[in-house]
Amino acid sequence: MNLTERDSRHLWHPYTQHKTSKPPIAIIKGEGALLWDENNKEYIDAIASWWVNPFGHSNKFIADAIYKQLTTLEHVLFGGFTHEPAVVLAEKLIEILPKNQQKLFFSDNGSTAVEVAIKVALQFFYNKGEKRTTIIAFENAFHGDTFAAMAASGISCFTEAFQGMLIDVIRIPVPIKGQMQDSLNALAEAIQNNNCAGFIFEPLVQGAAGMVMYESVGLDKLIRICHENKVLTIADEVMTGFGKTGRTFATDYLNEKPDMMCLSKALTGGTIPMAITTFTQDVYDAFYDEDIYKALFHGHTFTANPTGCAAALASLSLLQTEEMQANIIRVNKSHLGFQKHIEHHPAVVTTRVLGVIFALEIKTESSESYYGSLRNKLYDFFIENGIILRPIGNIVYILPPYIITDDQLRKVYEVIEKALKTV
Ligand SMILES: *Cc1c(COP(=O)(O)O)cnc(C)c1O
Repeated sequence: MNLTERDSRHLWHPYTQHKTSKPPIAIIKGEGALLWDENNKEYIDAIASWWVNPFGHSNKFIADAIYKQLTTLEHVLFGGFTHEPAVVLAEKLIEILPKNQQKLFFSDNGSTAVEVAIKVALQFFYNKGEKRTTIIAFENAFHGDTFAAMAASGISCFTEAFQGMLIDVIRIPVPIKGQMQDSLNALAEAIQNNNCAGFIFEPLVQGAAGMVMYESVGLDKLIRICHENKVLTIADEVMTGFGKTGRTFATDYLNEKPDMMCLSKALTGGTIPMAITTFTQDVYDAFYDEDIYKALFHGHTFTANPTGCAAALASLSLLQTEEMQANIIRVNKSHLGFQKHIEHHPAVVTTRVLGVIFALEIKTESSESYYGSLRNKLYDFFIENGIILRPIGNIVYILPPYIITDDQLRKVYEVIEKALKTV
């Protein structure tokens, strides 16, 4: 039996209907932007393995840092204890985060980073004796799959089965072109009529919605309204963080800074699961009290795992090299070239580019569902051609490791163009 066959006996995969989907591809090796399966077929990982891997697979520099940490102090509990990798990582992150971010809380993945932010927003007001129980979020948002994160998410296939069991969320339109005033009005109305504790958003790019992009002016205005009404703002930078938008954080494009930020995905260069929620001093101070019940009673066993912190420190230093910054600019320029070439193609509705992210919407007769038949046809076509891309409905996007070569990028573009002919 090969790995794929053995897998099917015991394993249950994410976002997968096992009765109708094809068996998974068994990957045995990765290097740079490339992956190889058990039949030695080569793939270009054009989505950085779900947006986590900026520096390439099996990166030696991060691997060495992990090995060194594993053989010095692999793990220690973070309740009542601390360690150098966590302290140094906090210092380094504070240097590059928006100036108002002063406190860091560790968890394990993007959903828990969001879960912590939402719980903190709710308890912030509870601690102050104010009843605020509603969260504001964008239409078609994605913030993760745990309960509060799922409540904030607006993509129905992820949340349908749990309607009626989720915290109260008011959804407002995204301030894309033509919708800015609607978005501002909806926010003002939500704040007026409800006990809103927080507003959570994916800054500038809604990843799982299909790389939907909107400009910083709208978001600045929304955040300002929240600041004026003392509604806490949460920038979910789980996808956008660490260079994807062309700046270290999407929040760097804003004038108004959020009260909290959620980080994960590329934090450890795609090596070890880890997440961080960051806070202003003001948020932290609402929990700082003689009263133990005002503390944040949240934690995970592997909180601030030293090995994860070492991986994150190695990743940060890679991100900050001139070479990596040049890679981000190179990929962006390459995308802009492809955009020019493809935007008037008869099968293309629209294209968009920000940083290393490229997205293209394909013309369809009827609206295409998230995991619809066009999407599956495209996915299969890309896999046949040795490219890992996961279209979302009729949207094809590229979010490659920053170190992807020009030749590899060219191949990705060529296969996408070929796919437009076949659909
Ligand atoms: C992926 C993602 C999450 C969830 O992260 P997980 O690690 O999958 O739990 C949350 N928010 C955004 C914006 C994401 O892209």
